[in-house]
Amino acid sequence: MRISVYGKGGIGKSTVSSNLSVALAKRGKKVLQIGCDPKHDSTFTIAGKLIPTVIDVLEEENYKYEEIDENDIIFPGYGGVDTVEAGGPAPGLGCGGYVVGEVVKLLHQLDVYEKYDVMIFDVLEDVVCGGFSVPLQQSDYVCIVTANDFDSLFAANRIITSIKEKSKTYPVKLAGIIGNRTDIQDLIDVYAKKVGAPIINVVPLSEEIRMSRVNGKTLFAIEEEGGGSKNNLTGNFLAIADYLLASPEKIEIEPLGDREVFSLLRKSSLE
Ligand code: ADP
Ligand code: MG
Repeated sequence: MRISVYGKGGIGKSTVSSNLSVALAKRGKKVLQIGCDPKHDSTFTIAGKLIPTVIDVLEEENYKYEEIDENDIIFPGYGGVDTVEAGGPAPGLGCGGYVVGEVVKLLHQLDVYEKYDVMIFDVLEDVVCGGFSVPLQQSDYVCIVTANDFDSLFAANRIITSIKEKSKTYPVKLAGIIGNRTDIQDLIDVYAKKVGAPIINVVPLSEEIRMSRVNGKTLFAIEEEGGGSKNNLTGNFLAIADYLLASPEKIEIEPLGDREVFSLLRKSSLE
């Protein structure tokens, strides 16, 4: 199963995808987490360090793809989860989307796809053009991370629009929305109902999660070391894992036009 995690920048894609990867591993799955953001920190909490990116390795080998071995780019991490970071070109040079496309190609070439039960692509923001759309085209499911605010729901709507478009030619399906960084979900509820998207889970704004990032660990690792999770946050991620492992059916989604998002959320927040 291939899963992509999309959402506005800084909304918690890497947080959600890394904890989800470990949750899936806890359910007995062999998981590969693939970071596709030039920020290259998607796998930090799993691997416990900044791993060399595929671009670093390619540069070292003068872009001779045939010289690259699986062990050069895939690094083992917590809970048996393996990790890859695509990396990106230096700012102002080249195209990050191109890099993502190349990394996917390389993983195919190395026959990596067959070795994992689940591959999770932690993708760049809501950019769904060029190479950045390759994970979407290759995924069975997309999870969208959003807060209970206008901007991240606006981004979510653009992603849902892309999924609807891509699903005409690719097998990609929306799994659903994952709320994050919020204890209130009124806007998420209104939006999800309007477009017909299931809400898989809502993860609260949590000091534990903020600190897990600072300490470079997943919530599961912290729990194992006896450090919490007081609010059973690992339970949220196990629930998301179980939802996906049940292979949800395709949902008919009706994305909104940009202007409709403005009027929907303005009205609902005033009520
Ligand atoms: P993205 O990958 O979407 O850019 P990140 O996962 O890197 O976002 O999250 C951005 C920041 O927000 C990180 O410092 C992370 O620790 C923090 N964060 C994410 N989710 C939560 C949450 N539920 N509660 C508190 N902090 C969070
Ligand atoms: Mg990220």
